[in-house]
Amino acid sequence: MTALIEALENIVGRERCLSRPEELLVYECDGLTSHTAEPSAVVFPETRDEVQQIVRACREHGTPFVPRGAGTGLSGGALANDRAVVIECSRLNRIRQLDPANRIAVVEPGVVNADLSVAARPHGLFYAPDPSSQLACTLGGNVAENSGGPHTLKYGTTTNHVLALELVLPDGSCVELGHPSGFAPGVDWVGAVVGSEGTLGIVTAITVRLAPIPESVETLLAIFPDVVSACRSVGRIIESGLVPAALEIVDQRTIRAVEDSVYAAGLPRDAGAVLIVELDGPGVALPAQVTRVREACTADGAERVEVARDEEERARFWRARKGAFGAMGRLAPDLYVHDAVVPRSALPEVLAKVCEIGDRYRLTLSNVFHAGDGNLHPNISFDRRDPDELERVLAAGAEILQTCVAAGGVITGEHGVGTEKREFLSLVFGDADLDAMAWLRATFDPDRVCNPGKIFPTTRFCAESNPKTRGYDRVPFA
Ligand SMILES: Cc1cc2nc3c(=O)[nH]c(=O)nc-3n(C[C@H](O)[C@H](O)[C@H](O)COP(=O)(O)OP(=O)(O)OC[C@H]3O[C@@H](n4cnc5c(N)ncnc54)[C@H](O)[C@@H]3O)c2cc1C
Repeated sequence: MTALIEALENIVGRERCLSRPEELLVYECDGLTSHTAEPSAVVFPETRDEVQQIVRACREHGTPFVPRGAGTGLSGGALANDRAVVIECSRLNRIRQLDPANRIAVVEPGVVNADLSVAARPHGLFYAPDPSSQLACTLGGNVAENSGGPHTLKYGTTTNHVLALELVLPDGSCVELGHPSGFAPGVDWVGAVVGSEGTLGIVTAITVRLAPIPESVETLLAIFPDVVSACRSVGRIIESGLVPAALEIVDQRTIRAVEDSVYAAGLPRDAGAVLIVELDGPGVALPAQVTRVREACTADGAERVEVARDEEERARFWRARKGAFGAMGRLAPDLYVHDAVVPRSALPEVLAKVCEIGDRYRLTLSNVFHAGDGNLHPNISFDRRDPDELERVLAAGAEILQTCVAAGGVITGEHGVGTEKREFLSLVFGDADLDAMAWLRATFDPDRVCNPGKIFPTTRFCAESNPKTRGYDRVPFA
């Protein structure tokens, strides 16, 4: 290992290569604190050329590597399994090009999501995918996870906004995929890389689509007696033909945590849940839409529907949503943020079951989620130092996923499979699907050195299900 660290220091200098145990501790996990793995080293490249050299050095010394952005991932995607070297991309943070005429930007992967919209604003443009972590998370991480956000309902996830990628492959070479025009003939390689969770290579540049800032925005806050009626209203609003920019639910436990925190937004502590509805578009169209949303919420028992009077009030409504995860820090030292998707129509029934599971396992469970997409985030507050509680957290999590799949859903909407959910992949995919995915991965990374131990179930690679035993001799296994 010493020889590899020397090689890495020769590439980036000693100050951009961490290898002391106390320095590595910071990188032993991402936002999923229940899973940890210590890296061999953490390197901070500043150019694509340095990324290529680092990859080649790792290959020469037989050490795997894992790309990392801001480490806000919630599925253990940036974990350094097998003592991998962490390639930290936050210093690849230049906006290379902002092109208003073509409504595109070319950015490096370490650019923070929210910073791109700030840079585009003088041109009347913004970058639509807006994870709630957008003040910290990077576009490289967003590409790897195909991140969504509150406005995914109307604007789509990251994959709908990425036009081209520059990718350093696991052999150290570099390829350009897609085309800035959005019209790339042949296989959709960009589509394959977006959402591949850092397993196909290291993204070093991203061409994204920018959208015009909407002429007008209306933000409503509907206060419900319970979370199930708020869920019903979501279906009713969509059924009425509207396409809101966002439909987000915050439940009572979350409201109380927020109100006790620095994010306090003046929400009623006794509300069962609030539904935040955002509408955007031409100013002339919005008043009628506001009326329809009011009617839908009232029909499902909303006690009150407030419309933000100005930008300050709008920010206040959103503070309750965007500050929710931070506020949870008040409840317990650790937070397990689950992520699953169900058909919107199943939301009321599934939410009721999720709350019952939390109670049965004697856990502090709260919900704050992208209701319009049917994308649930049951959050469990816990203390990982308590082994009994940790065991209950994991068991409840497994039951929640099974419930969502049984309701016609899937095991992740935006946080990815990572380390966390790899053993659950077979709930939604059969052997043939997993084989196809393994083949795709092997095309980019035949030796499984780029972000090892992610996505694919480990149990699958036992002797009888090993693809090699079926003659797929180019699909290596862990
Ligand atoms: C408070 C909070 C709120 C959140 N809200 C949302 C939300 O609304 N929507 C949502 O989708 N997610 C959300 N997340 C999850 C997380 O922020 C996203 O998954 C985000 O995209 C991760 O970005 P990152 O820069 O932190 O990446 P990391 O966590 O560092 O890495 C995530 C994955 O990306 C890979 N990766 C990183 N950089 C590169 C690169 N250059 N090339 C290839 N692979 C790379 C890593 O290997 C890893 O697999 C939230 C997280 C938190 C903590």
